[in-house]
Amino acid sequence: MFGCARVVYNDCLRVRDEAYANEEKINDTEIQRRVITLAKATPERAWLGEVTSVALVQACRDARRAYRNWFDSLQGTRKGPKIRHPKPRRKRGRQSIRLTRNGFTLHGERLYVPKVGDIKVEWSRELPSVPSSVTVIREPDGRYYASFVVERETVPLPSCDREVGIDLGLNALVVTSDGESIPNPRFLRRAQRRLKRAQRALSRKQKGSANRAKARHRVAVLHRKVRDARLDHAHKTALRLVRDNQAVYAEDLAVSGLARTRLAKSVHDAGWAQLLRLIGEKAEQYGRTFHQVGRFTPTSQTCSACGAKDGPKPLHVRSWQCKACGVVHDRDVNAARNVLAAGRAERLNACGGTIRPGAPLARPGETGTHRGVA
Ligand SMILES: [Zn+2]
Repeated sequence: MFGCARVVYNDCLRVRDEAYANEEKINDTEIQRRVITLAKATPERAWLGEVTSVALVQACRDARRAYRNWFDSLQGTRKGPKIRHPKPRRKRGRQSIRLTRNGFTLHGERLYVPKVGDIKVEWSRELPSVPSSVTVIREPDGRYYASFVVERETVPLPSCDREVGIDLGLNALVVTSDGESIPNPRFLRRAQRRLKRAQRALSRKQKGSANRAKARHRVAVLHRKVRDARLDHAHKTALRLVRDNQAVYAEDLAVSGLARTRLAKSVHDAGWAQLLRLIGEKAEQYGRTFHQVGRFTPTSQTCSACGAKDGPKPLHVRSWQCKACGVVHDRDVNAARNVLAAGRAERLNACGGTIRPGAPLARPGETGTHRGVA
């Protein structure tokens, strides 16, 4: 089924690319007819009939979404960073299929998928409601996951009057405007070092050899451990920030100065985006506010005490004294304070100046993005 969904996805991209090149208008129904219905009738794609068509239709939809995102980004109707042309799915690596409501059933503890059968599931938690879809994922380390989309009720926490700005950092994961520093835990750094070593070992192995396959599996397992450790830490950090504060402010990664440097891209991008997503989700769940500062502000160059701009500072400058008012700043705490001020100002503008600190203000669409399972 993974293979079929992958082929349908890639066929969709090809059909769309060809239509685009020939300036041919082609609608979604026609594409679906060509890559599923008509393809099934050909000897090269006859095996598509062996799996449930729900998975194939979803692959078509995924391809349409990916193509549309790229297209909207090209035409400038989509906000955020530029999106590249969707890449074909590959046989190696993470595989996934999505099944909508009519494409699966829950038989007690088991997940039933047509033409596959009952699948035993190791439940990580009880589902809070009837799931509307399930994504079955096969990770490169050979593990399978079932991820359900469910409705969940919000559980507002009693309101408090603390607000915080956070600075995402290279040394510490997060520094808050209160001066607290939340580092990446030691075990995560250790796992990252081990992963680097395993990757080097993999690159030395002969292509196509059994040892290379073994090394690749080792890398995949370490990848999973790093990923799980990072996710776990991000969950805890996000929960703490949301629980202790009525509002959390952060820089939007698209406008953040540091996130756009090459250094940050390679090492921390994924971790930062994940943390921000979790803060947004938890804020929504617990009735708190999460706001991302959408306009670029030179947070590390501005004095948070008097507002004077002090010029750019290389990354190794950890603390500095403001030439205008003489206050000595920790680089990251100062940045977090500026984020807090900029975030408050943006919210103030957004709601016509009726805001007081600590006032709960949750508007739909403001509490971060809600991403479904891809
Ligand atoms: Zn100053």
